[in-house]
Amino acid sequence: MQSSDGGLRTFRGAVAIVTGGASGIGRAIGEDLAQRGADVVLADLQAEVAEQVAEGIRRSGGSATAVDLDVTRFEAVEALVEKTVNRAGRVDYMFNNAGIAIGGETSSYRIDDWRKVLDVNLNGVVHGVQAVYPLMIRQGFGHIVNTASVAGLLPMPLGVSYATTKHAVVGLSKSLRVEAERRGVRVSVMCPGVIRTPILTGGVHGRLQFPMTKELALAMWERLRPIEPQVFAKAALNAVARNKQVIVIPRWYGAICTVFRLSPSLELAFSRKSFADTVRSYETATAPSRIGAPK
Ligand code: NAD
Repeated sequence: MQSSDGGLRTFRGAVAIVTGGASGIGRAIGEDLAQRGADVVLADLQAEVAEQVAEGIRRSGGSATAVDLDVTRFEAVEALVEKTVNRAGRVDYMFNNAGIAIGGETSSYRIDDWRKVLDVNLNGVVHGVQAVYPLMIRQGFGHIVNTASVAGLLPMPLGVSYATTKHAVVGLSKSLRVEAERRGVRVSVMCPGVIRTPILTGGVHGRLQFPMTKELALAMWERLRPIEPQVFAKAALNAVARNKQVIVIPRWYGAICTVFRLSPSLELAFSRKSFADTVRSYETATAPSRIGAPK
């Protein structure tokens, strides 16, 4: 199946599926893509919210549909890709973006916490890749864009299950990119820094397992200078258009990653300090605490 204009559209006339498209980064990516002339499919567990976002896009002249999707179900992701190609004739972009976070010390996890985070953040991406890659090979074009995190490039104490999945998504994306380029398919990975979205306090499907209020959690994130999802989306889509491999935004996180790659001992010292600072913050705010500071 070859497109009439010979390939990937950037972004006018493109067809793009965005998982986790009801909220935060996925919503902002969907809205920005639609503004740039793409036909957007917002796929999310929060189907009603996704429909409201799609309606907003249509009201402002864009093209969008909302779909109820659980990315942990491969058959559902496969059916979505098939339905989209049957309707629109092509899929240019697959944004495997849905994600959750369960924050807290690993000693506080139950095995189901691990399973849930692995299922959404890693298997969700695997399902998206496996569902769309064969089609993109047949088309001879396509761009898979996976959402990892700077927690896929740096250690994240108090987010160990999250960091595990995000490191895996970076590895998956960088490896597949090399295989896929000879098939005419692009693969990129987005590594957002701190973006002001519901996930920062656990989101709808995750949670924070510290003895900490939402307000305190948000105050701690504020120290890392979060940016708005719309700002992230604009810069990220410009980088996707340039077919950048690893998209780190805000860019200063990229500089930190480079320094830490050159100096693992500095990375370790920084991680220990930020872990100790975080534990101290919530211990001070909520004594008596279940969690002890590192010795
Ligand atoms: P968000 O909570 O605003 O959005 C996540 C969306 O994913 C929600 O709409 C949710 O309903 C959906 N979702 C969750 N589980 C799903 C499932 N099983 N099937 C389908 N949809 C599901 O959070 P966000 O910040 O926009 O997160 C988007 C992505 O960005 C995630 O992969 C997240 O890990 C990543 N990320 C976010 C930040 C940040 O600071 N916000 C930083 C780095 C990476």
